[in-house]
Amino acid sequence: MDLSFAQQVIYQEEYARAQVPGPLATGLGIAGPTVIKYGTPEQKERWLRPMLRGDKVWAQAFSEPEAGSDLPALRTTARREGGTDDGEYVVNGQKVWNTHADISDLLFTLVRTGSQESRQRGISYLIIDSRAPGVTIRPLRDLTGGADFTEIFFDDVRVPAADRIGAENEGWRLVRTSLGHERAAGAMNQAARYRRVLDELIALAHERGATADPLVRDRLAQFDVLVRIMRYTGMRTISDIIARGEPGPASSTARLYTATFEQELHEFAIDLLGDDGLLRGSDPGAVQKGRWVWGFLRTRASTIGTGTAEIQRNTIAE
Ligand SMILES: Cc1cc2nc3c(=O)[nH]c(=O)nc-3n(C[C@H](O)[C@H](O)[C@H](O)COP(=O)(O)OP(=O)(O)OC[C@H]3O[C@@H](n4cnc5c(N)ncnc54)[C@H](O)[C@@H]3O)c2cc1C
Repeated sequence: MDLSFAQQVIYQEEYARAQVPGPLATGLGIAGPTVIKYGTPEQKERWLRPMLRGDKVWAQAFSEPEAGSDLPALRTTARREGGTDDGEYVVNGQKVWNTHADISDLLFTLVRTGSQESRQRGISYLIIDSRAPGVTIRPLRDLTGGADFTEIFFDDVRVPAADRIGAENEGWRLVRTSLGHERAAGAMNQAARYRRVLDELIALAHERGATADPLVRDRLAQFDVLVRIMRYTGMRTISDIIARGEPGPASSTARLYTATFEQELHEFAIDLLGDDGLLRGSDPGAVQKGRWVWGFLRTRASTIGTGTAEIQRNTIAE
């Protein structure tokens, strides 16, 4: 929308306040900025508008069973047949933990085009049609009972070289842009959303008579302060993007902050519910359809996905 900084802040806050379910942000938040920065004019034309309109859903296929924190260890291979720009790649390997890949149209993937020992120097960034022959996508159930992420198998999948972003073996440069934006994505939206969630938690505490306890009031006041800090951290991240075109290390600060905050908030909510904190959505008597229990289980993954808390700390330290 080409909004100014102030307008972005207002937009995100109104959006969250109105309780509008967000778009599937993987394409818009991660792949989009990468295509804008490194794509050819033809690729931008072909991919960006359908992504923005929501006509095409994008999913991220980076992680592998033996390559998570250590992403340069990835083993999915892409063997080129024909020219660098007009040939085809034949892709073989496995990806895992790919959010919403089962409902995606396109996968943005990292593949090995160099030797196995080449690490960062032998990786290319390929866009693969999720329904191409040889692609198998299976949902994986997580501890909330939902199945938001998947595992993907590539068996001799043929991908046009024209669907590679950036030069062959130079995909690692693009990864920094993708991961930085992934960590920054929704920084403002998260702050606005947690403002609303905290207000709902305060209402719940009142309803259950818990606010008579000064320790409960104290915790709620602390969370209020933390949500305000989250808002400033989000602003700092967005202003970094505006100033430098890249989120920079502030994105790891924002991500780590939000991840630990949402775990603490949900742990507190479960304590507040007492025995009712054991009831899940489908159980009779579940409080607010089990949303706090679901949130508690869901946020266990917050310090793993988008890079683990340890990796964020390493990035900040470096
Ligand atoms: C909810 C969720 C959604 C996800 N969505 C996607 C997705 O859409 N696409 C995708 O490609 N991937 C996705 N992932 C995968 C995610 O990126 C990886 O799980 C994550 O990077 C960690 O990798 P790993 O699981 O292999 O753990 P490992 O890398 O094996 O880590 C195991 C443990 O060792 C620690 N560790 C590893 N290396 C270091 C180090 N150098 N210093 C300190 N500690 C270290 C880690 O912090 C962790 O505690 C998702 C994960 C989750 C939980």
